Amino acid sequence: MLVRLTDAWQDILARRAANSETGAYPAPVRQLLGELAAAGVLMQGNIKFNGALVLQIFGDGPVKLGVVEVQPDLSLRATCTQVGQVDDDATLSQMVNVNNEGRCAITLDPQDRLPGQQPYQGVVPLFGDRGEKLENISEVLEHYMLQSEQLDTVLVLAADDKVAAGLLIQRLPIEGEGNLAGKTDSLMRESVLGQSEDFSRISILTKSLKREELLGLDAETILHRLYWEEPLARFEPLMGETGPRFACRCNRERVGNMIRSLGTEEVEGIIAEQGQVEVGCDFCGAQYRFDPVDAAGLFTGLPPDLPAGSVH
Ligand SMILES: [Zn+2]
Repeated sequence: MLVRLTDAWQDILARRAANSETGAYPAPVRQLLGELAAAGVLMQGNIKFNGALVLQIFGDGPVKLGVVEVQPDLSLRATCTQVGQVDDDATLSQMVNVNNEGRCAITLDPQDRLPGQQPYQGVVPLFGDRGEKLENISEVLEHYMLQSEQLDTVLVLAADDKVAAGLLIQRLPIEGEGNLAGKTDSLMRESVLGQSEDFSRISILTKSLKREELLGLDAETILHRLYWEEPLARFEPLMGETGPRFACRCNRERVGNMIRSLGTEEVEGIIAEQGQVEVGCDFCGAQYRFDPVDAAGLFTGLPPDLPAGSVH
């Protein structure tokens, strides 16, 4: 599976650059978030989960959080929280794994979640098998997929200021039923991981793809360059309204719920200090303002959007 985010990715970057408080992402953060975005779309496209797929990096360095959320229709949003300086040549571990506490979480949040039902979440550290710090998001996610799905996976990711792109190759289970049979089968399946000659050959071809090629070449050229000796079954590319695109899911009601969860005391404190409660969406840059009447409405159960005059 190959993804090339252009408009969607540039939209995400432009919204960040327009945020006067943060400004644009430094190049290494942009690369990290772009690779996460491409990976999120690949993973959602691959499993076709009926709900949000959320990729998160929790960092212990200057990058505290990176989030990518991809919906079943492949609409996506992404943001990074950065505190402090990121040098132009910063590595992944210098951004998010300075004190060995960085981790990556993959969450599947079902669309029709029942009350009390928890979303599924897998968490992986940012270390390789030999305890080395991983410097590529692709390696972190390959580890996750091998552990959680026990499927051999090769992932190549790249991002710059125009394109966020990724190529995912995954070896399908030998028997589909093996997935349902549970752990008794897992040892058997593990023992054949990496032993298929075809998969090894295709993995090597895939890993030979350079970042510049992934960013600069169209899908047709990449597929031909890598796999020209392999039989290919092509699927129609998903573009435009059916393809990946930026969309934010924030709205005034959700922001109101969030403010309500702070409690009366906290909200009254903010209003005493600032005259209103103002919340900006990190994903799209929308600003939500609640004046004292709006804020009071949150706690009395009145619709927050009711004009002030009709409250009396
Ligand atoms: Zn938003």
